[in-house]
Amino acid sequence: MCGIVGYIGDRDGVQLLIDGIKRLEYRGYDSSGIAMVNGNGIEIEKAAGKIKNLEERLRGHMLKGSLGIAHTRWATHGVPNDTNAHPHTDQSGRIALAHNGIIENYRVLKQKLESEGHVFQTQTDTEVLAHLIGKFYNGKLEEAVTYALNLVEGTYGIAVVCADEPDKLVGARMGSPLVVGVNDGE
Ligand code: GLU
Repeated sequence: MCGIVGYIGDRDGVQLLIDGIKRLEYRGYDSSGIAMVNGNGIEIEKAAGKIKNLEERLRGHMLKGSLGIAHTRWATHGVPNDTNAHPHTDQSGRIALAHNGIIENYRVLKQKLESEGHVFQTQTDTEVLAHLIGKFYNGKLEEAVTYALNLVEGTYGIAVVCADEPDKLVGARMGSPLVVGVNDGE
């Protein structure tokens, strides 16, 4: 069982997110990653193995931002390596997605997207959903997520961010739990 943590607020989110996924380590995982939305668009760092490997990467390339998502992966589609670790991006690189679960019909969706010119970087089912969200994106992330999820079969918990909407964190679930915590400005 993997885990996802998202943050939107006014604090620096990187440490909050790393601390968050550490609290989910007990669930088991094979790799981890983080995506932050900031003035540079979306910045991503990922690493196979333990979260301490990700922290090591971050020491060489510290991310910043107060909107982001982090993930611990338990591979179902694609070997556990740096590339297949989440978050994954859409074709534009401006949308990032962390996903828990399985997209059962990812093959047929992937073939269609490839026929439309989409190029995939990973072996995961998750990247297909990221591209699908990007395909439908027209300025409102929650609408694109809704359209994309209507085409998906399977169970999931997801968190999605978009560089063009730095005031928004979108979550959705089907068959997986999702908890939202609210604080002043967060
Ligand atoms: N099916 C996805 C993958 O293999 C997500 C696995 C998970 O829940 O961590 O990347």
